[in-house]
Amino acid sequence: MGYLNTKGVDQNTFDVIVIGSGISGGWAAKEFTEKGLNTLVLERGRDVKHQKDYPTTNKMPWEFEHRGQLTRQLIEENPVVSKCYAFREDALHFFVKDKEHPYVQDKPFDWIRGYQVGGKSLLWARQTQRWSEYDFEGPARDGFAVDWPIRYKDIAPWYSYVEKFAGISGNKDGLDILPDGEFLPAMEMNCVEDYFSKKMAASYNGNRPVIIGRAAHITSPQQIHLDQGRAQCQNRNLCQRGCPFGGYFSSNSSTIPWAMKTGKLTLKPNSVVHSVIYDDAKQKATGVRVIDAVSKQATEYFAKVIFVNAAALNTNLILLNSTSNRFPNGLGNDSGLLGKYVAFHNYRARISAVHEGHLDKNSSGGRRPNSGYIPRFRNVKKQETNFLRGYAAGFGASRYNQGAEGWGEDLKKSLLNPTLGPWYVGSHMMGETIPKESGQVSLDASKKDEWGIPLLHVKVDYDDNDEKMVKDYLEQLTEMFTVAGFKNIETVDSKQAPGLDIHEMGGVRMGHDPKTSLLNKWNQLHHCKNVFVTDGACMTSTATQNPSLTYMALTARAADYAFNALKTGDL
Ligand SMILES: Cc1cc2nc3c(=O)[nH]c(=O)nc-3n(C[C@H](O)[C@H](O)[C@H](O)COP(=O)(O)OP(=O)(O)OC[C@H]3O[C@@H](n4cnc5c(N)ncnc54)[C@H](O)[C@@H]3O)c2cc1C
Repeated sequence: MGYLNTKGVDQNTFDVIVIGSGISGGWAAKEFTEKGLNTLVLERGRDVKHQKDYPTTNKMPWEFEHRGQLTRQLIEENPVVSKCYAFREDALHFFVKDKEHPYVQDKPFDWIRGYQVGGKSLLWARQTQRWSEYDFEGPARDGFAVDWPIRYKDIAPWYSYVEKFAGISGNKDGLDILPDGEFLPAMEMNCVEDYFSKKMAASYNGNRPVIIGRAAHITSPQQIHLDQGRAQCQNRNLCQRGCPFGGYFSSNSSTIPWAMKTGKLTLKPNSVVHSVIYDDAKQKATGVRVIDAVSKQATEYFAKVIFVNAAALNTNLILLNSTSNRFPNGLGNDSGLLGKYVAFHNYRARISAVHEGHLDKNSSGGRRPNSGYIPRFRNVKKQETNFLRGYAAGFGASRYNQGAEGWGEDLKKSLLNPTLGPWYVGSHMMGETIPKESGQVSLDASKKDEWGIPLLHVKVDYDDNDEKMVKDYLEQLTEMFTVAGFKNIETVDSKQAPGLDIHEMGGVRMGHDPKTSLLNKWNQLHHCKNVFVTDGACMTSTATQNPSLTYMALTARAADYAFNALKTGDL
């Protein structure tokens, strides 16, 4: 590969290359183009244009061949991705199917992916909470992983920055475990969620708050959202189809078109990044090798700065596959830790019950793309259990028509006078896991995909800490449900494999010391300063929060640093 004629090189040369157009890559594209830098975004999947490429967005249930359900054949052909709750008939086209992109499960791992412009930003559940000081200081305090090279104060202004643009709804709850953000009006709890929240506040001295979820939905559009062409969330609850209103944040509705408007963005879909090119003489990365997804033709692109935002595990894969004389084991991998300390969120446990009160009300009159949230309450200020760290939890209550009957006029009457059952309540666990050296991704020595890229091996698992945490969650939530007077309490440990949480993190972790980490406090590779990683791969620990807001803030922060370093000639 390479270019003999300089015109070719010029045409393929940019100020910045961003690999991946999902949540984090979209932010990198926005930041660099706004600052006037010629930016190339390389995306392995097809293009998905906001509104135009959401084929199911306005379909009625009866317009789907299987009324939204999966066929037996689809489930059999997709044992992994069909486990994801959002993999349904209306959103199949935004998910990677099992056979399309194989990987090797050294231990069971459900890898859920979206390969297209926008990545998983079209599919995510939009829960967006800030990390707190307790999360950043966690590894140092509790003696695991390595110390984060940043603290809450370093990222707080960047949380504010991305929240204002993305549009995050929520209440200012005043909790130090879950710092408040720049919120649009919060969605409302229903009467049973509100009852549970009040009951918990009274029963646990305010130490187990139950709040409405903080979610990336525009509940009251501000000028900055209207400028993006986005409108108020309509509570359609059809988000995974792509929202024609831009009511929730996605790269497709927000950062990518915003970057495009600057005239500085070149977006190349169907461009599979094979590896980053390292120049031994210049002692820096000079570009990337790309295989055209369709023609399989190889091309090289060049830039001063490279942001790797292919989502956590694919970012590991690209760096491991970026070998050179200087870095025979992967780019920046002098420590030998590239691909190690991969962790995830423990979503194994859930609990459900029945609430016999509030029978004069129901929840079928309104839709809301959100639910309640219980921030972490275990081991926050001090160690109080036999396991490290803790869990957050979702909480929701609903009451539905038990089934409409009849035809024509009878059906209408039955719908207007529904037969309502009791209220159902439920919660699911979102546990922090401890990154371990054995939690690792690596490249297969011989098997390659059709683009000539080695298959990824994934070897991550639960440990004793996770088992104890599952037990504690089920005990504590059973106690809380009992205190609330809920009946028929049922608990489940699904034993689901890691991965289905879709919050895989690590492998290229941040840290102070190049001997024990890959990235510095600005998300730069310690040993190759013009390459930055700002997706989940950079995470030193996992906390309990849904992670994407943190990826957005880290990306904007690192892009600002890279821009200034370019200006001063440091890059
Ligand atoms: C059903 C579901 C619910 C979720 N709910 C939440 C939630 O409530 N809150 C939350 O914070 N997170 C949630 N997530 C996770 C969230 O979607 C991810 O954290 C987020 O999208 C990660 O952003 P990213 O930029 O790292 O990766 P992605 O958004 O996945 O984007 C990565 C992009 O890189 C591209 N790419 C990969 N490899 C290459 C290559 N070699 N060359 C070129 N391009 C490449 C991919 O095609 C993709 O477009 C959810 C995810 C799913 C699927």
